[in-house]
Amino acid sequence: MTTPSHKALVPFVSVENMMRLIHHIGIDRMLGELAEYIEDDFRRWPEFDKTPRVASHSDVGVIELMPTSDGQAYGFKYVNGHPKNTREGLQTVTAFGLLADMYTGYPVLLTEMTVLTALRTAAMSALAAKHLAPRDARVMAMIGNGAQAEFQCLAFQALCGVEEVRLYDIDAAATAKCARNLGQTGLRVVACDSPEEAIQGAQVITTCTADKQYATILTDNMVGAGVHINAIGGDCPGKTELAPAILHRSEIFVEYPEQTRIEGEIQQLAPDHPVTELWQVITGAARGRRDASQITLFDSVGFAIEDFSALRYIRDRIEGTDLFEPLDMLADPDDPRDLFGMVQRAAP
Ligand code: NAD
Repeated sequence: MTTPSHKALVPFVSVENMMRLIHHIGIDRMLGELAEYIEDDFRRWPEFDKTPRVASHSDVGVIELMPTSDGQAYGFKYVNGHPKNTREGLQTVTAFGLLADMYTGYPVLLTEMTVLTALRTAAMSALAAKHLAPRDARVMAMIGNGAQAEFQCLAFQALCGVEEVRLYDIDAAATAKCARNLGQTGLRVVACDSPEEAIQGAQVITTCTADKQYATILTDNMVGAGVHINAIGGDCPGKTELAPAILHRSEIFVEYPEQTRIEGEIQQLAPDHPVTELWQVITGAARGRRDASQITLFDSVGFAIEDFSALRYIRDRIEGTDLFEPLDMLADPDDPRDLFGMVQRAAP
């Protein structure tokens, strides 16, 4: 008699193993490799199934599912956004995700994505900035010094050559934390008392705040000619960061317009306001920055293909390592039709 098996084990990357993987690879290298995976997938954008993410809103936050497929593999991320959470000792954003084989429909990876989202968002921002920011940009204002902030600063250092970051947060403790964490990175770190001070001399302005309202992190008079704005925090209906006048002076670049018009800064504009899709800049079909005086805006909300790229990357990178646990999450009896028998035989 053969022993019935129900095991098609799925590799699971825990938070602990994700952190070990980062130290194993090195964070700068990992940000660079993630940017390459995202770039590869953006180059083949038309191959993907695309849909705005599926969101469930409450008064205090949102829970979202972000699915996509390239016909070979299928990925989704579960992610939340709860700006009030930090006051209760919880993360604003947590996530996990899954990659599956389209042929069998079987999952091939389950992984934490809270840390991975911070990495992929930073890699995405830096990739966009490579096409949009002034070439000589060395100074970045970092407004909002929460969970994402250090990842953003490191990606701009590693991939765009930023040398100085000017930090501002309404909560001085967040700025102090961020400055401390960036202490050994080689970045010049300047803690600022106001957003006006933070943007002084900055060619790149990253806004990465969390507040469930039409906030005005940047007013029109704060944004001078030639600046690149990397707007990360406005990513939900009714949750924006920029004064509308800035949008009217900027060339606006987005991930997936159908989603960004619902969630991004451009929800404040007419539905037909022209925007450029970033994937077209990456393939060369559309232009990025045209001249030194242009204001460019990456209206980032985070799109499923970036998570798909991150999932592919982790699947490739854990191969041959012990940085995952095999998870018994799929019932897979030897006789595929004998699911019930499998349960019966498991009786104590
Ligand atoms: P977080 O809560 O850890 O940090 C947000 C910080 O913003 C806090 O320190 C808070 O004090 C600060 N802040 C709030 N209002 C401010 C203001 N008016 N001026 C200055 N600082 C202010 O959150 P996080 O995980 O760092 O995420 C930040 C934002 O980025 C969230 O809104 C999140 O939804 C968004 N996000 C976007 C993407 C993307 O792909 N675009 C990915 C991840 C997170």
